[in-house]
Amino acid sequence: MPTAKQETIPAATAPAGAPRVIEVVAGVIRDRRGRILLARRTEGRDLAGLWEFPGGKHEAGETAEAALKRELREELGIAVEPGDRVIRVPQAYPHKRLCLDVYDIRAWTGTVRGLEGQALAWVPPHKLADYPMPPADVPVVAALTQP
Ligand code: C5P
Repeated sequence: MPTAKQETIPAATAPAGAPRVIEVVAGVIRDRRGRILLARRTEGRDLAGLWEFPGGKHEAGETAEAALKRELREELGIAVEPGDRVIRVPQAYPHKRLCLDVYDIRAWTGTVRGLEGQALAWVPPHKLADYPMPPADVPVVAALTQP
């Protein structure tokens, strides 16, 4: 039985030539003061210079939780415990389509470092909107800051 609302187009029914949906995962990481971590995309990458909730693409066969743990270990050097999903954002760019799943990080250990040369910022929630972000990350700010 097909589900009433499908968020991705199965390969069998996708129009010919439709780009694959890239599954991306990101985390909302807070410090003890309630500030939230943003990472700046480095030069030479897609959307360079924009600030995002840290994360990245799933590898083949990975669950969202496994992808999130791996990405945040590789990019930031921390071990995280993902909590609830905050939002799922489907995003179409002219050249690609992705679906961004954002999870609350309920606990983390280690020292946050930009292991890929990326700038990092701990941002109070009411200042998140001051940071230019990829379009997929903009609804995340609203989800985190609206009552
Ligand atoms: O970081 P990476 O290049 O693996 O991310 C894959 C894609 O997901 C990129 O196109 C990036 O724009 C997007 N992304 C995003 N928001 C995030 C993390 C990644 O839009 N927080």
